[in-house]
Amino acid sequence: MASRSSSFPAAVLRSRESPAGDRIVQLLCAAGIVDAFAFGGPKSKLRSLASPWHSGTAWIYEDKARGLVKLTDFDADEEFPRIRTDLSAIGAASLAAEFIMASDALGGDGEFSRVLFVELLRALDRAEHGIPDAALPQFCLRALRAMGVMPDARECASCAGEIGPRTVHSYSRRLGGFLCERCAFHAEGPDPLLDLPAGAMAYIARSEAMEFGEAARAGLSVPALAALRACTLDLIAKAAHGRLRSLESGLL
Ligand SMILES: [Zn+2]
Repeated sequence: MASRSSSFPAAVLRSRESPAGDRIVQLLCAAGIVDAFAFGGPKSKLRSLASPWHSGTAWIYEDKARGLVKLTDFDADEEFPRIRTDLSAIGAASLAAEFIMASDALGGDGEFSRVLFVELLRALDRAEHGIPDAALPQFCLRALRAMGVMPDARECASCAGEIGPRTVHSYSRRLGGFLCERCAFHAEGPDPLLDLPAGAMAYIARSEAMEFGEAARAGLSVPALAALRACTLDLIAKAAHGRLRSLESGLL
């Protein structure tokens, strides 16, 4: 038999219609991103169980001869209902899902990506609406590190000189890295630099060892959080090598 059934932990990244009108669910799991057909009408139970951002166990049936992967059941342990009641949380979850798809599961580690995505969803679901927190920047930092593309905050991206920990760091959108004071002072041309306060830089270093939920809630000043957000979103846009539509959705 060239077919088999299996079940595994999965989070739903997205669901969409196929050209033929069938529902295709994109699952994030240890194997990476798996596209599975969820048959049934628009009101089917399976479709609602396998809605975007649900996390749980997926059952699939693989028909190798026909090249078909079918979702036969989805047991959602967590549905994160509060995310859907807040536009900025919706924007953050959509961006994370889009980035995971664009980077092919952050460069291929499906299990790491699934755990990180679920941690982000939990933080967004628990957040106090209207109060910005560091959940999305923290997701970006961990994703960038996993992909090996997080720039070194201690080394100038222009002259390769050392940047002291206590100075204001300037992030260069043109170079996708940090500049020392001298290079930031002499920077010319159409490269509006982003100043990251010392608090933002300390957070980047300190939060690496923290548990995700704790790092998402860590106190940051409003300017430090805004700068960290702008810098990490620019870095993931670069890491995706193209436009991330969620960045232009107006929700973030
Ligand atoms: Zn420099």
